[in-house]
Amino acid sequence: MATILLVEDELTLAETLRYNFEREGYTVLLAADGVQCLELARREQPNLIMLDIMLPRLDGFSVCRILRQESDVPVMMLTARQDEVDRIAGLELGADDYISKPFSLGELLARVRAIMRRTERQPRGLSREVLTAGPLKVDTSSRRAWRESDELTLPQKEFDLLTCLIRNRGIALSRDLLLERVWGSDFIGDSRTVDVHIRWLREKIEPDPARPRYIQTVRGIGYRFETPAA
Ligand code: CA
Repeated sequence: MATILLVEDELTLAETLRYNFEREGYTVLLAADGVQCLELARREQPNLIMLDIMLPRLDGFSVCRILRQESDVPVMMLTARQDEVDRIAGLELGADDYISKPFSLGELLARVRAIMRRTERQPRGLSREVLTAGPLKVDTSSRRAWRESDELTLPQKEFDLLTCLIRNRGIALSRDLLLERVWGSDFIGDSRTVDVHIRWLREKIEPDPARPRYIQTVRGIGYRFETPAA
């Protein structure tokens, strides 16, 4: 049975959500602050973490950043208002989805079911992860990648870059963010490094590298991965 770790300091909301998740058949763990969330996430390995932003002790953004260094557990952020900045910050930190309060319970449950469906094929406890995007397939555990049935020869950084882009498909990722995710925050260099590796990657995965279909340039920002419609 799938387990949801619910991190919410508003007790009434937390209890309402817990009741509804349990009615759907999920096991629910409750954390009332960010520190408790990290402890429970490490110990219980939940299938999904539902994370409020305004939390005592450690806010949701900090929690999300730490979680992302430790695991690929799906994270859904609860934003307190229709705040675009919170939403983008959450996604840039690696959250899988967000929902703004007040939300409809029906919509929330539908999103949770969608995330669970996306992730249920990945066995828990193992780091095996196979990402597919159109004709591309990336197996992060064996570090192999294919286009159709052809295996791609990707050096480490290009492999990591492709993985990062596909994991965040549909989201514009800044060059700085890609540098931090792929090269690490202690990397000494500039964002043109990203451009060079994107060019090499396009030559390997794009049918026509001059007119990319998968890795789109986002002017003034960076890049966005798109899966073209078949
Ligand atoms: Ca709160």
